[in-house]
Formats: sequence, C-alpha cells, structure tokens
Amino acid sequence: MAVNYQSLAVKGVQALSPYQPGKPIEELARELGLNPAEIIKLASNENPLGPSKLALAAARKALDELCLYPDGNGFDLKQALANRFGVAMNQITLGNGSNDVLEVIARCFADSDSEVVFSQYAFAVYPIVTQAIGARGIAVPAKEWGHDLDAMSAAITERTKLVFVANPNNPTGTVHRADAIEAFLDRVPEQVLVVLDEAYCEYLTGEEYPDGIKLLGRYPNLIVCRTFSKAWGLAALRVGYSLSSPEIADVLNRVRQPFNVDSVALAAATAVLNDEAYLNRSREVNTAGLRQLADGFDRMGLPYIPSAGNFIAVEVGERAAGIYQSLLAHGVIVRPVAGYGMPRHLRVSVGLPEENERFLDALAQSLVAAGQGG
Ligand SMILES: *Cc1c(COP(=O)(O)O)cnc(C)c1O
Repeated sequence: MAVNYQSLAVKGVQALSPYQPGKPIEELARELGLNPAEIIKLASNENPLGPSKLALAAARKALDELCLYPDGNGFDLKQALANRFGVAMNQITLGNGSNDVLEVIARCFADSDSEVVFSQYAFAVYPIVTQAIGARGIAVPAKEWGHDLDAMSAAITERTKLVFVANPNNPTGTVHRADAIEAFLDRVPEQVLVVLDEAYCEYLTGEEYPDGIKLLGRYPNLIVCRTFSKAWGLAALRVGYSLSSPEIADVLNRVRQPFNVDSVALAAATAVLNDEAYLNRSREVNTAGLRQLADGFDRMGLPYIPSAGNFIAVEVGERAAGIYQSLLAHGVIVRPVAGYGMPRHLRVSVGLPEENERFLDALAQSLVAAGQGG
C-alpha cells in the first residue's frame, strides 16, 4: 500500500500553509509576457534606493574568498553592531534574515506544550514558526488594526513562553509609543520572553517611539530583533540579528546553524553600518513617499491605515483581489493581504516618487475598471 508521506510530517507542519512572498518581477514578466524592466515591485517593503555603494563594494570584495567558509561568529559585524548600539558582542545573535532569528527563538523556547502570543494582523512569520514547532498560537484580536497590548498581556497563561510584538507592525504599519511598550513589558511576567520585532524602527523619527535596545537593561526577558532588509537595503543578502541578555543569546547561538550568515552578507552589512548618508536618504524618501501615497489615496477617497513603516495598507474594498490583478496587468506588483485576514486591503511598499506616481495612476485606472472609481 502506498505511504502518504505528507501524513508523516509532524502535526503542526501538516496543517501549515507556507509564507506567501510578494510576487517576483521575473515571475510576473514570464506570466504576462511583460518586459521586466517595465515592472515595478512595491510588494515586499524593499528599499527603493537600490543598495548602498559602500555595501556593494564590500560585497564585491568578499567574492574573492568564496571558497572559504564564513566567519561563523560574525566577529566584524557583531563588533560594528556592538559599537553602534553600545551593547556587548555576546548579546548579539546573527541570523539569515531576522526571520531566521525569529524561528530559532521559537525553537529554543517553545514546544508542543507551549503557547505563543501574537496579535491579529501581525507578521505572518509568528504563527508559522509557532505552528511548525507544534506550539499553540494565540492570536489576540487587534485594536484599530494595531496590537491590543492590554489584551495581549491578559492572554498570557502559565503555558505562555513567548510573546511576539512587531513595532511598527507589518502589514498594518501601526506603531506603539514608548510609554505603551514599557507599560506592556511591566505587565509581562519575567519568565515569559517578549520578542520586540523592530524591523522598521529605522524609519521612526520622534522621541515618543521606543528604542528596544535601551530597554534591554530593564527587562531581562526582552529580545529585540532587527534587520538589514528594509532601511539598510540588503534584503537579498538575508541578514538580521537579535539583541538580548548574554544568557539568552548563548541559548540562541547553540541552535542557529553555524554558518547561517554568509561572507558576502557579513561584509556588506558591516560596511553599510558606516553609510549613515544612505540611511538618512532612505528615511527621507520614505517620509516623502508615505505622504505622496496618502495624498493620492485621499484624492481617490480611499481609506488607509496611517503607517510608521515603509509601506501602507490601503482599503480598496471587496474587489481587492481583482484590483490586485489589474495592477499586475499594469506592471505594478503590490501585496494582497487577504491571507492576513484583511481581504479589503492591499499593502503597497513606498517606492521612488515616480514609482509611487505610476502605482497611483494604475490604481485609479483599476478602480474605474472595477466600477469603483470616482
Ligand atoms: C520584513 C520583516 C522582517 C525582516 O525579515 P528579514 O528576514 O530580516 O528579511 C521581520 N519582521 C517584520 C515584521 C518584517 O516586516
């Protein structure tokens, strides 16, 4: 009798649906016979500036040593991060993207007896890593699209091992102020770890927003995750990291793969930390682009969720799936978020001014085609 090999997968994995990434440019070009050069992708919160010149030069130089294993400890990058943030190198855990770190955290601290708390409409990776290890995910209903931090702390039980908090959150762009995050951390029992995912923190300007790194000393149960994929513009290279107590970092470093960040990625990430001008430019382009998109949505009468990230979720209504398809036909890739339980929204990443304009034009035409335009 034939074996059903899928049924041999562990329980959590059997019921798992894979993460759905933004559609790659080449794929759309193949599907619709379009010229890849004429397609714009505003679907994965990538940096529209292209990579930093300093990062590129360092990456090219690292190519000469491709036959050697990378530095499994990532010494140079850890040293650069430690200097930048005033932490010790033994507080840092490097990952193949911060996704990798998120998964390692779940595997180190939760198992099939555990509960893991996160918010409705939060980053899709939290429920995926939770389910993959057979733990029980507790999705706490959101409040005005953002994390309901009171309800999240109230959802903690004796079984809760981890709480994931994305600040700002993806895909909604909502953000909590420092006072709210600190009040939340004060309520979480110290044996429950809080993962504060700050993938978009570089875009935050203003004293009122928290810097998780400054909270590490006060909250030994805190793990702060960050990434080089967004404001630092290195999404292809897959580099992220967490900052925590040395004790927690020691645990994470036992489980992560020994060479999880490759040499080219290590070199580029180390170099880009010296490119403050690039980071500033990323912020400026983002701030202007968010305004441009919001103005466009206002003109079209479309509601949107005010965003602190490098993307914005716009409510296009019940025909969102058709509008997404219509945008594709215009060579514009955005992100459907029905999988996040937001079937009326589309998420669009902030592009360069001309890309934002092209998206807004295509959106206006798609709305008319869908019978919703004004
Ligand atoms: C993009 C993103 C990440 C980062 O992913 P990488 O693996 O570092 O590329 C982490 N968390 C959230 C909420 C994100 O949106």
